[in-house]
Formats: sequence, structure tokens, C-alpha cells
Amino acid sequence: MDFNRTRYTPMNRRRRIYEGKAKVLFEGPEPGTLIQHFKDDATAFNAKKHEIVDGKGVLNNRISEFIFQNLNDIGVPTHFIRRLNMREQLIREVEIIPLEVVVRNVAAGSLSKRLGIEEGTQLPRSIIEFYYKSDKLDDPMVSEEHITAFGWATPQEIDDIMALAIRVNDFLSGLFLGVGIRLVDFKMETGRLWEGDMMRIVLADEISPDSCRLWDIKSNDKMDKDRFRRDLGGLIEAYSEVARRLGILSENESTPMGGPRLVQ
Ligand code: UDP
Repeated sequence: MDFNRTRYTPMNRRRRIYEGKAKVLFEGPEPGTLIQHFKDDATAFNAKKHEIVDGKGVLNNRISEFIFQNLNDIGVPTHFIRRLNMREQLIREVEIIPLEVVVRNVAAGSLSKRLGIEEGTQLPRSIIEFYYKSDKLDDPMVSEEHITAFGWATPQEIDDIMALAIRVNDFLSGLFLGVGIRLVDFKMETGRLWEGDMMRIVLADEISPDSCRLWDIKSNDKMDKDRFRRDLGGLIEAYSEVARRLGILSENESTPMGGPRLVQ
């Protein structure tokens, strides 16, 4: 089946499969597909802080599309098929593994807090952490022992997830470095994609300034959701700047452009 040729007809009554804090999933036009819709809701601290930020969904849709399409193009498997419109993308339906996988290159956020390492300290190597996806429990950090004992993923799947996380981190670090941005850390999610009897682990959900820490190389300015978490203001301006540097938005922020622009 060639999903890229599938025409998508907007429907008024689409079946809503799942609604999260920043996204909604609808039934897709073909079996095995879903539509991922990006909302303008900004939340932090497990939704205790909540605001609507006009235009955030549109930017995250475009930034996440750009990252996932580039990963597909270099052979890193993802759930992404294609963008449908300003806020929506067509994705493959996967069985989400209930783990948030955090990859860190520089100390920040909860790592700095828990271990007393000053924010901005370069880590001796990239560190991968797992958190169990549960709003009720505030996404607790878990070890591989917990993951296998409770059957959230097998040891082989953990190996696959870690290999995927390292490839994604290497790609993203280079991509952002080329446009003058330091990838401090990011969160990713994975899913099981079934193709007949075969199953493989693919990258799922989104990768956007909502789920990454991105610092300007020169000024160290935050260009991510910490602007919202820490009440710094200028969230849309920062996300637009990320999109502009990646070559997704032109100077007037409306015309799609060619590709990333090297920042000297
Ligand atoms: N993160 C995320 N969703 C979460 C928790 C963390 O996208 O539910 C991202 C966060 O934006 C950062 C990275 O994962 O890029 C590491 O977050 P950290 O553990 O430092 O937690 P935080 O300080 O955000 O509470």
C-alpha cells in the first residue's frame, strides 16, 4: 500500500482514539493509520500549569514533521507517514511502549536537581533514562529491572530502544549544532510496529521544542518549553526561531523553505 498516494478527506465526525495534553489522535483513513493533531495547549508539572499558546501546535507539527521525515530518510524507523495540514499528520498505528525515554548530553532539569550537578555541565557521555508513563504516578523513573519484571518491554526491546535513542540523539545533536543550537536533552517515545508476523520498534509520538531542551550556542538562551515552565515568556518567538533556523519557516514565518541554514 502506498500511503503517500492516499488522499485525505477531512471529516466532521472522525473517531477520536485518544486525547493527551498537547495532541489528539483520530482514526486514520486506512486501517493501521492514525491522524495526530497538534493542539495549542501548553502544560507543565503534570498539567498543574496549563495555558493556550496560539500557534504552538502549528509550529510543533512542522518541526516534528521535519525531524521525523529526515529520520525516515536516513533509515531510522518512525511512525511518521506525511503531514496532512497545518496541525495534523498521518502516522502508522503502533503499540506504544509505556516508557518515556530521556537522552541527556548536558546536565539540566531533573538530573541537575536530583544529583546536584550544575545546569549546563557537559556530561562525560550521553545518558539514557527511562520513566514509566503514568500521569497518576507523575512518570516515575524506572530501571531496566522494573521494565522487564513488569513486562513493559523485553530485554531485546530495551536494547533496540537504546540503539534507536542513540541514533536519534546523534542525528539531532548534529542537526541542531549546524544551526547554532545545543541539544541539551530530549524525550522520545517508541512503539511496536507490526508488519505481518514481524515486529519492530519505531520512534513514535513527537520531537519538538516541547520535548527537548534547546539552548542557543552563543547566548545560552532557552529555545524550548522551559520558557513556559520557568515563566520566561517568548515561547512562540523561540519555537519560530527554531523552525526558521531549520529552514522550515522563512523570514516572514509563512513560506516553507529549502532546508537547514548553517549558522557560522
Ligand atoms: N520531558 C518531556 N516530557 C515529560 C518529561 C520530560 O518531554 O513528561 C523532556 C523535557 O522537556 C526535557 C527532558 O525530557 O527535554 C528531560 O526532562 P527532565 O527529566 O529534566 O524533567 P523536567 O525538568 O522537565 O521535569
